[in-house]
This record gives sequence, C-alpha cells and structure tokens, in this order.
Amino acid sequence: MTPRFPLPCIRGRVSAAAPLDRITWFRVGGPAEAMARPLDRPDLQALLMQLPGDVPLTVLGVASNTLVRDGGVDGLVLRLGRGFADIRAEGDTVFAGAAALCANVARAAADAGLGGLEFLSGIPGTVGGALAMNAGAYGRETADVLLDADAMTRQGEIERLFNADFGFRYRGNEVGRDRIFLSARFRGVRRPAEEVRAAMAEIAAAREASQPIRSRTGGSTFRNPAGASAWELIDRAGCRGLKRGGAMVSEMHCNFLVNTGSASAADLEDLAEDVRARVRAATGVGLDWEIERVGRRGGPPA
Ligand SMILES: Cc1cc2nc3c(=O)[nH]c(=O)nc-3n(C[C@H](O)[C@H](O)[C@H](O)COP(=O)(O)OP(=O)(O)OC[C@H]3O[C@@H](n4cnc5c(N)ncnc54)[C@H](O)[C@@H]3O)c2cc1C
Repeated sequence: MTPRFPLPCIRGRVSAAAPLDRITWFRVGGPAEAMARPLDRPDLQALLMQLPGDVPLTVLGVASNTLVRDGGVDGLVLRLGRGFADIRAEGDTVFAGAAALCANVARAAADAGLGGLEFLSGIPGTVGGALAMNAGAYGRETADVLLDADAMTRQGEIERLFNADFGFRYRGNEVGRDRIFLSARFRGVRRPAEEVRAAMAEIAAAREASQPIRSRTGGSTFRNPAGASAWELIDRAGCRGLKRGGAMVSEMHCNFLVNTGSASAADLEDLAEDVRARVRAATGVGLDWEIERVGRRGGPPA
C-alpha cells in the first residue's frame, strides 16, 4: 500500500504499510498506511508541521486497549519514541514520558519510597494510554494521582493540562482525541519501599489468578455499567467460553476476549457484538465498549 500523502521526514523512524499486528496485544489488525516514531518533542513538531491537515492521525501506545481492524488504518499512526519514555522521581512526584510503561512508573515510585501509584503496576499500557483512558484498577484510577500533563496539539503547540482540565470520567476524559499526550506528573505519598513493593506483589498475584494476562487479549472488553459488573452480566447471559473463529470469551474472566491463535479482528469484534446482543436479551442491559476500535473492516488493501 503506497501512502496517499508524502511521508514526513524526521529523525525518528517513518515507514509505509507498517504492520500493526506485531504490536497490538491481540496480535491482530491490518497495516497502518504509514507509521511514525518521532524521537522527541522537536521531532514530533517537525512531523506535525509536514503532515497535511486532512491526513487522519491515530496515536497508539502499546495497543493494550485497542482492536485494530483487519483492513488497516488510514493515515498516519503515531507511536512516541524513546525520548518520550523518561521516568524520574522528583520529591513526592514522579515525572513520566507518555511512552513510559505504567508498570515502570510504579516501579520507579516504589524505588523512591512513594506509594499511591501501585495500581499502575498491573496496567500493561503506557502513560499516554492511561491518561486517555483514565486507566485504573483496585479502587484507584489515573485521575486520583495525576497532577498535570503536557500535550501537543495537531498544530505542534505544547500546552500544560492540570488534573481539573481533563474532566476525567470512568475510563475516559473530556479532553478529546485531538491532543497528543507527551508526559505526566503523578503525586505519590511517602511510604517505605518494601511496603510499596509488597502491595505491588499482591496486585500481581491477584491479576495472575483472575485474568488471562499471558494471552493475546485487550483487557476488559466492556465498561462496567453503573452499579453492575460487565463480567457478571456476560456470565449470566451464558457467554463464558463462547467462540467465533479464533476468538473466544475467556473462561477465566469473561469480560476478556482472547485470540486463541488464529483470530481475525473481525472474529473478535463480531464475538463481542454477539456477547452484547446476548447480554441485552438476557438482562436488558446494553454494554458499552471499553476497548477502542480503529481502522477499516475487511482484508488489508493490496
Ligand atoms: C491483560 C490486560 C489487563 C488490563 N487491565 C487493565 C486495568 O486493570 N485497568 C485499566 O484501566 N485498563 C486495563 N487494561 C487496558 C489497557 O492496558 C489500558 O487502557 C491502558 O491504559 C492502555 O494503554 P496503551 O498504551 O496500551 O494504549 P493504546 O491501547 O495504545 O491506546 C488507548 C487509547 O489511548 C490513546 N493514546 C495512547 N497514547 C496516547 C498519547 N500519547 N496521546 C494521546 N492519546 C494516546 C489512543 O489513541 C487510544 O485512544 C488491560 C489490558 C490488558 C491487555
């Protein structure tokens, strides 16, 4: 697939027809028309300056909450490069680039004797993904610990957003999808490092016991409806273990879909829609997707 726009020339990597199934947690999805990995903020600005305004821009972290459809993604897929992965503790706060993994942020906080960020240790995404999704677990979410974040507009301007500017809600915010998060500062609380590490070990053990974390999955498929658990509704509708092609509702945690090896993105999406229909029929509740879906259905373009 030859991109329909000139590829930007930057210091970081830019490639045409970039396979995305290698990077998504589900290990499915067609190619990006083009993909870029700018090295740092000036490189990202250079990229945005060269990118025609009508070319769609999709930002990805490590795609642990994203289902890329089989037809691939039009426009430019942006993944932040290594200059966005710094993590450093500064007093009672932790600074982290948007490409840093949440687990590494939690580890750095523990090393600095800072608690409160333990929940991040079990979220297999990046800081950018956590800001976009207001990622959370075990009673805490990103909104509870974020001080502020830097973001870049499509015009290349950098702005600082404070926690209150985000309008955080359950697994989302009001900021909109036209900003690229660059970094964040999180607030910790002083706590002995051994205690923080013990809390993180408990979280790891609980996840290992209850979620298919070693499978090709995308985490929770649906948001929990107010006052209910999506997995309980799915279970009640008899969907545990339900299959379509190579896609299956996890036996271990039935709000997780897994690619058993040969699933297409369509198998996964259609299975989830089947689950939604069955839950509605059995319980009257309409589930909303938590996983983000990007790209076109159908096979990849020739
Ligand atoms: C096994 C497993 C367990 C999980 N457990 C949890 C859990 O306990 N709690 C939870 O909340 N989630 C969980 N998830 C889902 C996922 O890990 C989180 O939503 C995570 O925050 C996504 O980060 P990511 O980097 O993978 O984002 P991606 O999936 O790559 O992207 C998700 C969204 O974030 C946006 N985004 C990413 N980076 C940026 C950026 N720099 N600027 C602007 N937008 C950006 C994307 O455009 C997209 O809209 C789990 C997933 C898996 C596979």
